[in-house]
Amino acid sequence: MDAIRADSIVKQFGNVRALDGVTLEVAAGELFFLLGASGCGKTTLLRCIAGLETPTSGTISFGDRDVTKLPPHKREAAMVFQSYALWPHLSVEKNVAFGLEERKIDKGEIKRRVGEALELVHLAGLGDRGIDQLSGGQQQRVALARALVVRPKCLLLDEPLSNLDAKLRIEMRREIRRIVKEGGLTAVYVTHDQEEALSMADRMAVMNRGRIEQVGTAEDVYRNPHTAFVSGFIGETNLLKGRVIEVRGEFAMVETASGPLVGRVTKTEWLPTGGEEVILSVRPEAWQVDAGTGENGLVGKITERSYLGQRIQYVVETPAGPQQVVELNPNVVRDPGETAVKLSARHGDVAVLQA
Ligand code: ATP
Repeated sequence: MDAIRADSIVKQFGNVRALDGVTLEVAAGELFFLLGASGCGKTTLLRCIAGLETPTSGTISFGDRDVTKLPPHKREAAMVFQSYALWPHLSVEKNVAFGLEERKIDKGEIKRRVGEALELVHLAGLGDRGIDQLSGGQQQRVALARALVVRPKCLLLDEPLSNLDAKLRIEMRREIRRIVKEGGLTAVYVTHDQEEALSMADRMAVMNRGRIEQVGTAEDVYRNPHTAFVSGFIGETNLLKGRVIEVRGEFAMVETASGPLVGRVTKTEWLPTGGEEVILSVRPEAWQVDAGTGENGLVGKITERSYLGQRIQYVVETPAGPQQVVELNPNVVRDPGETAVKLSARHGDVAVLQA
C-alpha cells in the first residue's frame, strides 16, 4: 500500500493542454475518485499515474519513490479499463494468469494466486469458462481479478462500470469497494458519474478543464462546494446571482433579483466584500415550502411537478429571478398553478460562491 502523489503535472498534446498543473495526494489505502465532464483530463491524469503517458512536466510518486520515468510494469500499479481488454479466445483462468505468466512466475504459484484472485471477485469455480460465456458483470470481475493477481499496491480504474446496465452497476459499486478495502489497496477511480463517486469514494477530486477545482469527501464537496461548477456538477442545484450587502463572520447577506438572502461562504480561503458580485447555490432539497415565517426566502409560483419516487420535484418560478427546483418528500403534495408559495432556506444551506 502506497500513497500516490502527483505534483504540478502538465500534459500537453500538440496545442491541447490536457492537464494544467495538477497537484494531488491520494492517501495509502484510500479509494479516491477523479470526477469531471468529458474531456476534463481525468483519463490523462490516470494514465500518467499508470505510466501509460509521460507528463510534459511534473512528477508522480508512489510512497517516497519518484516513478515519473518508470515504465508501467515497474510501478506496481494495475489498471482496469472501461473495455475490460480481455482475451476472448482464452478461458477465465488464462486471462487472469496472463500477467503472471509474462513475469515468469512458477506454475504452482500462478495457480494458487489465480485461485485467490477469482475467490476475491466471487468467481471461484468459473475458471474454465470462456470469456464469451460470461455476463457483462462477470467479465468485469475477470478484468478486476486480472489486475489484482499481480498484487499491485495501487489499483487504477478507468470508468470500469460504464458497459454495465444500471442494476448491475450499483451491485458492482459495492463489490469494487469491498475488493479495494479487503485487498488494502490504494485506488484511483475515474468516472463522469457523480452518483458513482458520491456513493463509493473516500475522497474525490472534481476536475474542470485540466485543473482540479476541489478535493474532499463526498459530503464535504456536496455540502460545501467551492465553485458554481462544483455545485452544479455534484448533485443538482439552483444558482442565483447577487451582490453582497454585508458580511458577518462566514455569513453574507446578498441582494438577489428576488430579494435579500443570507448564505454561508463555503470556501475557506476567500471572503467576499460589500458590493461584490457573487453566486448563491441552493440545493433543491434545501428549499422548504411555507415553513415558519418564510424568512430568508423567495416567493413564487409552482409551474411543474414531477414524481421521482422517494421525493417530488417542483419547479417554482419567481417573478424577478430565475426558476427554482425544489424537492419535497412525497407526504407533502403541492399543485402546479399555486401562487404566493414561500420558499425559505436555512442560512447554512445557501452557499455563497465567488462569481
Ligand atoms: P472522457 O470522460 O471523455 O474520457 P477525460 O476527462 O478522461 O474525458 P481525457 O481523455 O483525459 O479527458 O482528455 C483530455 C483532453 O486531452 C481532451 O481534450 C482530449 O481530446 C485530449 N487528448 C487526450 N488524449 C490525447 C491524445 N493522445 N492526443 C491528443 N489529444 C488528446
